[in-house]
Amino acid sequence: MNNIYKDIDRVVDLLEKEIIEFRRDFHKYAEVGWTEFRTSSKITEYLEKMGLEVKLGGEILNKESMMGVPSEEELKKHMQRALEQGAVKKYTEKMYGGLTGVVGILDTKIQGPTTAFRFDIDANDGIENNSLDHRPKKEGFLSVNSGAMHACGHDGHAAIGLTVAKVLKSMESKLCGKFVFIFQPAEEGARGAYSIVKSGLLDEVDYFLSGHIGFAANKLGQIVCNTDGFLSTTKFDVSFKGKSSHAGASPQNGKNALLGAASAALNLHTLCQHEEGATRINVGVLNAGTGRNVVPEYAEMKLETRGETDSLNQYVTSRAIDIIKGAAMMHGLEYKVKVVGRAQRGKSDKELSKIIEEQAKNIGEVDEIVEYAKLTGSEDATYMMNKVQENGGKAVYLMFGTKKAADHHNSSFDFDEGVLKIATKVYVLSAIKINERGRI
Ligand SMILES: [Zn+2]
Ligand SMILES: [Zn+2]
Repeated sequence: MNNIYKDIDRVVDLLEKEIIEFRRDFHKYAEVGWTEFRTSSKITEYLEKMGLEVKLGGEILNKESMMGVPSEEELKKHMQRALEQGAVKKYTEKMYGGLTGVVGILDTKIQGPTTAFRFDIDANDGIENNSLDHRPKKEGFLSVNSGAMHACGHDGHAAIGLTVAKVLKSMESKLCGKFVFIFQPAEEGARGAYSIVKSGLLDEVDYFLSGHIGFAANKLGQIVCNTDGFLSTTKFDVSFKGKSSHAGASPQNGKNALLGAASAALNLHTLCQHEEGATRINVGVLNAGTGRNVVPEYAEMKLETRGETDSLNQYVTSRAIDIIKGAAMMHGLEYKVKVVGRAQRGKSDKELSKIIEEQAKNIGEVDEIVEYAKLTGSEDATYMMNKVQENGGKAVYLMFGTKKAADHHNSSFDFDEGVLKIATKVYVLSAIKINERGRI
């Protein structure tokens, strides 16, 4: 058994340069949710070259369940840009309508468990720090795509995923069962995982592993083996429609959408109390009005709710909708609510965490194992975890420590790339152990 640890250690160390190259390439050509045409195309290319079966587009996404998809026009623009930046047409052709993401399958054809890994691949909306003390700028891999930057580390996740797939593929003759590598689009805003679950891809998975670099793990060599505390969340866009009118000559004929939306925003922020646990609400965007002397006809609001449990989130969501309705009535407005993202509460299985803990101890670079930590944000991998657990499988969410240049989602975000090979080793060794247990 000792040999296995040494072998994996050596193989992954040799791949370190390549993992970093993958990460920097994805970083440079950052693409936000549902527009990851180039990223998905590159991943597909690598997976095919490795000899994996690859699924794309409608094979991995249920179109009706995709949330928060940009407009046709936006998608076209991004597709065009991706092609100019090296995306491969025969792959992007399967992604029309924003059907990005890729799944690679390694089927050993020998009876055994199915283990799925999920790596998210999307960038954030935002403009990357362009100053020379920001390493991506200094070392030439700053995002070239204006308005998109990898500020959460998903560029690293995609690189880790490709390397895990490569190492497991190289050991195929020693393995059994099936390995499914999910490269998920649109995690930001909790938009993508649900449609992958709805495609049926997780229906026969016995073990599920996912994770994140950073967050509660902020030191290189630190591994969190059991993550919990994800907040259940709903993201929605609200539009208000009133009636414009001359603000001086005939204000009484107007219906003020700006006031309706503003009144809703103020009242929504009074909602966060429940005896059963934590809840959150945030109105993050409010746009309204067209001119100083015009009664505003339209207003647009982007907000999110969260809760420690699915029912707490449901409570805040339904109260929020009551408030929006009330504010609209007060000002004689019409309103529309559109859900553009959702994630559930999730729990890691202790039994599976233990296996990972045992394996992580054998990795030289791992010097601190944290049994349990909370990720008090939201993650749509929870849909996948819950699906696998509902069917009797086990799921786990890990965190891989790394030193960060700034917080997640900050324009100066960057991380110590040493985490890439450590995370790869953790996934590969855990997969091997799980596989051994499943061998019949
Ligand atoms: Zn994020
Ligand atoms: Zn993230």
